[in-house]
Amino acid sequence: MNLIRLLVIAAVVWLAYVLFKRWLEGKKPQRPGPDGRPQERMVKCDHCGVHVPESQALRSGDQTYCSPEHRDAHRR
Ligand SMILES: [Zn+2]
Repeated sequence: MNLIRLLVIAAVVWLAYVLFKRWLEGKKPQRPGPDGRPQERMVKCDHCGVHVPESQALRSGDQTYCSPEHRDAHRR
């Protein structure tokens, strides 16, 4: 009888631990999830100075630009 009680307590403790871990992970602000995106590095446009996410920035050699228009304008 004591062994069954011990197993039940162990199961409850394990369940609480799993739920607590899941709750902790859900609280992490920078965790990439299905709806949230990972934190992205911002780069500055060399023409107008606007900051854009790295994935949206246009690169031309060492320079970064926010749009093709600014890349072309800076090139001239
Ligand atoms: Zn720009």
